[in-house]
Amino acid sequence: MSLIVQKYGGTSVGNAERIRSVAKRIKKAQDDGHQVVVVVSAMSGVTDDLIKLAREIHPTPDEREMDMLLATGEQTTVALTAMALHALGAKASSLTGAQAGIVTDHVHTKAKISDLRPKRVQELLKQGHIVIVAGFQGVTEDNRITTLGRGGSDLTAIALAAALKADVCQIFTDVDGVYTADPRAVPDARKLPEISYDELLEMAGAGSKVMQARSVEFAKKFNIVFEVRSSMNDNPGTLVKKESKDMENVVIRGVSLDKNQVKFTIERVPDRPGLAAKIFNALAEGNINVDMIVQNASSSGEKTTDVSFTITKDDLAKTRKILDPIAQEIKAGAITHRENAAKLSVVGIGMKSHSGVAANMFDALGQAEVNIQMISTSEIKISVLIDLKDAEKATRAVHERFGLSK
Ligand code: ADP
Ligand code: ASP
Ligand code: MG
Repeated sequence: MSLIVQKYGGTSVGNAERIRSVAKRIKKAQDDGHQVVVVVSAMSGVTDDLIKLAREIHPTPDEREMDMLLATGEQTTVALTAMALHALGAKASSLTGAQAGIVTDHVHTKAKISDLRPKRVQELLKQGHIVIVAGFQGVTEDNRITTLGRGGSDLTAIALAAALKADVCQIFTDVDGVYTADPRAVPDARKLPEISYDELLEMAGAGSKVMQARSVEFAKKFNIVFEVRSSMNDNPGTLVKKESKDMENVVIRGVSLDKNQVKFTIERVPDRPGLAAKIFNALAEGNINVDMIVQNASSSGEKTTDVSFTITKDDLAKTRKILDPIAQEIKAGAITHRENAAKLSVVGIGMKSHSGVAANMFDALGQAEVNIQMISTSEIKISVLIDLKDAEKATRAVHERFGLSK
């Protein structure tokens, strides 16, 4: 008998009717002869609403309490999904992340999975149950509830597929698969039949929220092939797997846009060895992911530099709190930040063997009259920071330039 892991995202379980329809799909998988483990997210909007509520109570809520709060979203959905399956006459049991054996480190709100002990899942499967696991959450060795970062239900599903040695892993969402760009922003984006781990990893890291970046990293590490597909129809989705030789023929696989960026600048940082380390170590200790970094010699002629870097909006308050005392200590100038920034990226493993990709991208942006504020590159990605107001226009221009449109 084969084992199948299915994950349903927030929109797919967004109301009672959707949960009933998802339950039918799950039951069908069991009727087809599979053992079925299902991971569900919180109903759409619930996690955002809980975060908003918490911030109304406290501007920087305690992260341990935050996890306690956020975990309730998925706990609601597992129970409702199990009930919907019971209504169809199926045997189903729901489990929290802790009950399913998802053990994590102590980094609240962004915890990493440190161990998987799915004994209870396996016992229930043996008894003929469909097992519904709460996504996005885990537990530390000393029993604290943690969450795995936004979009973390994807990680729960991939990790369970790895631990249970599942034969099939399906990520059901509200689009038909991974597209050349967010189909909501670029209407003529195309669905990709397949994509490599590295490409999807870069796209996810660059703001394509179709899959959580860390979940793709995990899949790559354990070589878990998975399919991203729609919970609303039976269309084939996108297969995510190891790169193959012929994938390299495509220069650009996709375009990603991240509108959640904040650009920080610390002015007049004394130009001395060790100060960049001091600033970025402090941010790392605060578990803040810094993305692009640029250091410019100050125009004023003093021996100082301006250091700019980007973070995501969620870390704004925390970053300020960390930077203020450090800037004082190292006698730097003002700290400014701009929230109206967006990061646009092009991704493709074909870039490794093609030249002129960056020039082509910059030219498309120039033609569209979009100004570039920062640039960063990796082996298979080129990113630029641009003004938020130009984001959609720039995405369409670049998507078109690389021939990705339908
Ligand atoms: P779920 O709740 O199922 O986890 P998400 O909202 O996290 O779903 O992710 C699906 C969304 O990702 C889609 O609705 C789509 O707007 C967005 N998205 C962004 N980039 C892409 C892309 N390249 N391909 C497909 N969807 C994308
Ligand atoms: N509910 C969580 C979130 O909104 C996890 C997920 O949906 O994957 O980020
Ligand atoms: Mg998601």
